[in-house]
Amino acid sequence: GATFEQRNPARLTEVTGIWPASTREDARAAVEAAEVAFASWSKLTPIARASYLKKALENMRERASDIAGVLTAENGKTIAESRAEVQSGIDEAEFQIHEGLRMYGETVPSRRDGVFAYSIRKPLGVVSAITPWNFPFNVPVRKIVPALMAGNTCVFKPASLTPMTGLMFTECFVDAEFPAGVLNFVTGGGSTVGAEFTTNPAIRAISFTGSEEVGKRIHRMASEQLIKTQLEMGGKNPAIVLEDADLDAAAKSIVRAAYVCAGQWCTATSRVLVVKEVAEELTKRLLEEVERIHIGEGVDPNTDMGPVCGTEQLETIGGYLETGKKEGAVLLTGGNVRKDGQFADGCFIEPTVFGEVTEDMTIAREEIFGPVLAVMKVQDFDDAIRVANNVRFGLASAVYTKDLNRTFRYIEENDAGVMHVNLMTAIKEPHLSFGGVKESGHGLPEAGKTGIEFFTEHRVVYINYGR
Ligand code: NAD
Repeated sequence: GATFEQRNPARLTEVTGIWPASTREDARAAVEAAEVAFASWSKLTPIARASYLKKALENMRERASDIAGVLTAENGKTIAESRAEVQSGIDEAEFQIHEGLRMYGETVPSRRDGVFAYSIRKPLGVVSAITPWNFPFNVPVRKIVPALMAGNTCVFKPASLTPMTGLMFTECFVDAEFPAGVLNFVTGGGSTVGAEFTTNPAIRAISFTGSEEVGKRIHRMASEQLIKTQLEMGGKNPAIVLEDADLDAAAKSIVRAAYVCAGQWCTATSRVLVVKEVAEELTKRLLEEVERIHIGEGVDPNTDMGPVCGTEQLETIGGYLETGKKEGAVLLTGGNVRKDGQFADGCFIEPTVFGEVTEDMTIAREEIFGPVLAVMKVQDFDDAIRVANNVRFGLASAVYTKDLNRTFRYIEENDAGVMHVNLMTAIKEPHLSFGGVKESGHGLPEAGKTGIEFFTEHRVVYINYGR
């Protein structure tokens, strides 16, 4: 009977849903249902599984606009951003359904006469998908579609800030008449539902996206029982701007990647490392671009940047703004939580740029996960790479240059899972893997070929046919 409520971050007076605060027993029942369903789901051919998943995909397409509306009401991102997220989820689902049809093994000549040797891939069993609020549709797609295609059954816990989006995702499967128990959706807390979904002995793999603190805790617990993990965590993503860059294009691209979804993309640009020769010019252009950002409710088509997702986010980001000011960074624009007029009821923060940020400052090291950009002056290319790498994260990065030599040196020397040249840090496509290095990611990355790979295990067969 216990419940929790979720509110629209653009207007905290609006309750968007009241949800079951499920218990560990509820979560255990979901795992048991998934265990039962695994016996028959795993025996279907990939083509048969794909026919179910294609129906779910069709439902996603038909409901895209409704899902986007709910996403904006729960998360706050603009309606254009929500539509783009749903479309991106649909594209990834389509790719993973086709990828899962292949389930490649290997055939290699045996060293023994009359022996045929090959490998096959099998599903793991029950797997958990634990997801964050910043991509409440796309992240579940990226985990659950390949997990099911590979023949696993799944328990799914959405973030408590965005359960309705998770439910609408799940309903696409329910209405495609998936067999009971194949996908199980449970709302509730990290320490109850999350804990059960990461420690229950029937769980064979956990795909988690969220903070590094929770990711590490999950990994510690999972390691006790040799449960496989795929952890996608935070970032402190740098954009390096060299003296030969097209500064107008770089500024536009950086500002887009810094403030989209109010800076709450894991791949958002949060540090600009600009060589001293063009620092002033670039900063001027960045500020001109930021000036154009119109803050407001996500449902208003004129809004460029919506609220941040909830009061906890508001407080955390507000805290970083104060720390930035205290530690001596120069506030170039923004820097305030908005509580005036139309913003009184919501979680709005001004798009903020700090200048003269140095490596030792908190805002240069910690993931703020808000609309805050730190501009840092560097001496030259080598200094830029050193500063870029001098954080514990390694998710995404970008370099803006026309120089081929330094482009390739950046690719060789920068520690990031997803690198970009003259493109924003947030670009990703479904057919390539997506994940961070260092403390940003662990285990096989999601999407691309590794999307399915993570959810399978390899078996090897030797057949003596007697020659
Ligand atoms: P979070 O770690 O607070 O929560 C993520 C999920 O874990 C939620 O569903 C939460 O309920 C659950 N959880 C919390 N405690 C748990 C526990 N003890 N056991 C099991 N589950 C538990 O993260 P968040 O605030 O929802 O998301 C923001 C973070 O996600 C940021 O750090 C961001 O960078 C990261 N993120 C990373 C990627 C990526 O692909 N690398 C993508 C999106 C978001």
